[in-house]
Amino acid sequence: MHSLLQEYLANLISKSDSVFKPICFQLSCGTWVWQHAAGILEFIPARYFEHSVILTAGVHGDETAPIEVLDQVIRDIAHNELKLQYHLVVVFANPQAIRQGIRFVDTNLNRLFASAYNSQSDGPPLGLDNYEYRRAAQLKQALHVIFARTAFTHRIHLDLHCSIKPSIYPVFAVKPYTEVGRAPVIYNCPIVYPVEALIHSRRASATLSYYTTNYLAANAATVELGQAAPLYKNPPAMLKSIYSNIRVQLAQNFSQPRFCILSDKHFVVKAEIIKQKLDFRFAADLQFNNFHPIASDRIIAYQTRFQPIFAKANQRICFANQAVEVGHRAALIVEKLA
Ligand SMILES: [Zn+2]
Repeated sequence: MHSLLQEYLANLISKSDSVFKPICFQLSCGTWVWQHAAGILEFIPARYFEHSVILTAGVHGDETAPIEVLDQVIRDIAHNELKLQYHLVVVFANPQAIRQGIRFVDTNLNRLFASAYNSQSDGPPLGLDNYEYRRAAQLKQALHVIFARTAFTHRIHLDLHCSIKPSIYPVFAVKPYTEVGRAPVIYNCPIVYPVEALIHSRRASATLSYYTTNYLAANAATVELGQAAPLYKNPPAMLKSIYSNIRVQLAQNFSQPRFCILSDKHFVVKAEIIKQKLDFRFAADLQFNNFHPIASDRIIAYQTRFQPIFAKANQRICFANQAVEVGHRAALIVEKLA
């Protein structure tokens, strides 16, 4: 077994990104492993495959449970305990934020995937050369290289997160808006993650799963797996649940067309509350648990002291975060579909 995969996460957090050079090697089981850059690993099984599964974690560096689980998945492959039946890409998206145990270093990485990969123009806007802009460009380039090299019939992407706030439905997912046509339906989908609620987006965004949906034609979703905890401090039951949902599901063979998320409760995004000014405040007495219902006509937040935002009937709040950067989303307002 190649030593690179032995303690991948421990190595990643103890060294700087520049130490992790592009490298390619073959495991004894025949699977080829490519490290494209720090935290970007591609596994190519020796046998024919038509599905490609992309598992990303650590887009927010302090959402650590899926980071630990993906490290275990890598170890399973290295020890030949997980026999891949598909092409697999594993990404630790924001290594520097993971090292520091923070959400991001300079800016929210999950707001930097609005446009297609472009080798000429990709990179930070003038005056905004920071870690996350460089990392977003590197991630897009690596995914471009991987998927330009081989055409996979079916691509599935789960972007794995944890929530800052408690949630009425602790495990839920967000299905990105699809610009052209419907989200691709996958036959024999190797992974169908069960969640308690699925939020359907109705607008373009700049998240990683929006990018893979619209620019890599992936069947993709952002999955919230429970409340965030520091690295190696996650409850064992939570880790076990995520691990078994990924590992056990991967061993199953679904013969029906499926989306990569399974849910019997569906919500749709009705509005995004954008923090427009520094003095943006949520109403002091509002409950911020994800999916918490808000009474009609009550004040949700104030853009300024004299500029309240009111709730409409049947609305619920998700992802409330007053501390976001100005111009970023401070909350999502969702409504349950019948
Ligand atoms: Zn997150």
